[in-house]
Amino acid sequence: MIPANRAPAQPTRWQQLWREALTDPLELLGILGLADHAATLLPTADTGFAMRVPRGFVARMRRGDPHDPLLLQVLPRAAELGEVPGFTRDAVGDLASRAGGGVLHKYHGRALLIASGACAINCRYCFRRHFPYAEETAAANRWQAALERIGADASIREVILSGGDPLSLSTPKLAELTEGLARIPHVARLRIHTRLPIVLPERIDAEFTGWLAALPLQKVVVLHANHANEIDPAVASACANLRDAGASLLNQSVLLAGVNDSVDVLVALSERLFATGVLPYYLHQLDRVAGAAHFEVEPARSRALHEALRDLLPGYLVPRLVREVAGAAAKLPL
Ligand SMILES: *Cc1c(COP(=O)(O)O)cnc(C)c1O
Ligand code: SF4
Repeated sequence: MIPANRAPAQPTRWQQLWREALTDPLELLGILGLADHAATLLPTADTGFAMRVPRGFVARMRRGDPHDPLLLQVLPRAAELGEVPGFTRDAVGDLASRAGGGVLHKYHGRALLIASGACAINCRYCFRRHFPYAEETAAANRWQAALERIGADASIREVILSGGDPLSLSTPKLAELTEGLARIPHVARLRIHTRLPIVLPERIDAEFTGWLAALPLQKVVVLHANHANEIDPAVASACANLRDAGASLLNQSVLLAGVNDSVDVLVALSERLFATGVLPYYLHQLDRVAGAAHFEVEPARSRALHEALRDLLPGYLVPRLVREVAGAAAKLPL
């Protein structure tokens, strides 16, 4: 897929890499030396959610390991096809508001913009697998409707770009928004929720960091990594460039069975994040989305893992264990 708002004739390097992402599960298994496992691993019917994974992320997977924690996050699996009671297509309960004009204002002081439905990677546990993202996002019409809503409510101190992945938008498209935000005196902070610096660190190019550094706002970037192996030197360099541009860096993870549901893996993730200049922020209990039941960790085990982290790590390296409850005024501790 071509990211929005860029003439296809002149793709940037990151846009070129985006287009070259792997979409064929057999090709992925072949690269990893796992072609023999295709029959046991892959679903026998269409899951309705295509595989998509940038080649740079594939390069961080272990060869010959069908249980690799990065592979498990992206490979379509037979288990996705089974129906499990309690796992629904609208697990976070706001499908309707998400599909609207792209602005969600559920929490005090913070307006969240669904800036783009596109992602460079398709994470199998994501609620997005059922979401009709073709509709308009907050970026439509030069962000006009979003800017009007934010400008009309002086309680909004922070604007959060979310998605999909907001950094799938071109930097000139992001600049359209921040030109408008700079004229709204009550907005102090811009926050960006993005997995792109992890899965396609080339996105953090000079054009992007130049834009970010020049913003007359406080800047927070919330990354999304679930396992220490996701953070390689290219990711670390992208994070350093984000920090140099003035951003505070946080990370949110999803607790995923088989990927990071062990004390050792979670400790290693926190340590690696801090070594990269990133503080752990949230550890999310999985949203109960249809097709993702095999990733769920029982809440009692989630709590036990979290308690073990508190015993082993300094407080600033322990992420808050939370879940999203429809209608609540904040993410709730589990
Ligand atoms: C998660 C979320 C936020 C941000 O919540 P924080 O606790 O500030 O990270 C804001 N608005 C909506 C609608 C959200 O879902
Ligand atoms: S990057 Fe985020 S929004 Fe996109 S598929 Fe993965 S979890 Fe979902």
